[in-house]
Amino acid sequence: MHTTTVAMLRMKRPLDRYAEKRSFTQTPEPAPAALRARTGPLLFVVQKHAARHLHYDFRLEVDGVLKSWAVPKGPSFDTNERRLAVETEDHPFDYASFEGVIPAKQYGAGNVIVWDCGVYAPDEDHEYSFDDRREAEARARQGLADGKLGFTLRGEKLKGSYALVRTSTAKQWLLLKHRDRYAGPTELLARAESVLTGRTVESIANGDS
Ligand code: MN
Repeated sequence: MHTTTVAMLRMKRPLDRYAEKRSFTQTPEPAPAALRARTGPLLFVVQKHAARHLHYDFRLEVDGVLKSWAVPKGPSFDTNERRLAVETEDHPFDYASFEGVIPAKQYGAGNVIVWDCGVYAPDEDHEYSFDDRREAEARARQGLADGKLGFTLRGEKLKGSYALVRTSTAKQWLLLKHRDRYAGPTELLARAESVLTGRTVESIANGDS
């Protein structure tokens, strides 16, 4: 077989790993869907996920998928906090509005709410790309490839400048808060409710869905 064909067959599409881990007849999570063209600023979402270990899934829209990290301690407004963020598989864009119960024995079994969402743009050198989607995506792609991406979040709960920085350990990044007017000791995680429905991971567990 021609070597380029072999290379193409080996090349995985971005959502293959997501699909391989899940059985869509068993989980209410969305199956990978065809990409729709989007306009406007890039989206971010943080899902609170009461799996075996509670964590916050931090996701950034880049190139039609949600680049994803599991943050065990959740995001912070405190510039002294360096929160471990473990890189996980890309998720479909439609996952951004997913809330529900992933059944026992399924991958990621547990309750999920949309803890925060909004838009983001790369912000290195105080140059923002909220108004230019192509530029924002190019900068995000490059930053992630380089292992360092600074960005500003405009969410309901999360606001201001953050960075994701890759460590020397595979898949491990740090989520940092930059010093700005939103930095401070605010007890962010005390606001436990979904920004979409007001539910908590506990109330979803009680069948409120
Ligand atoms: Mn998760």
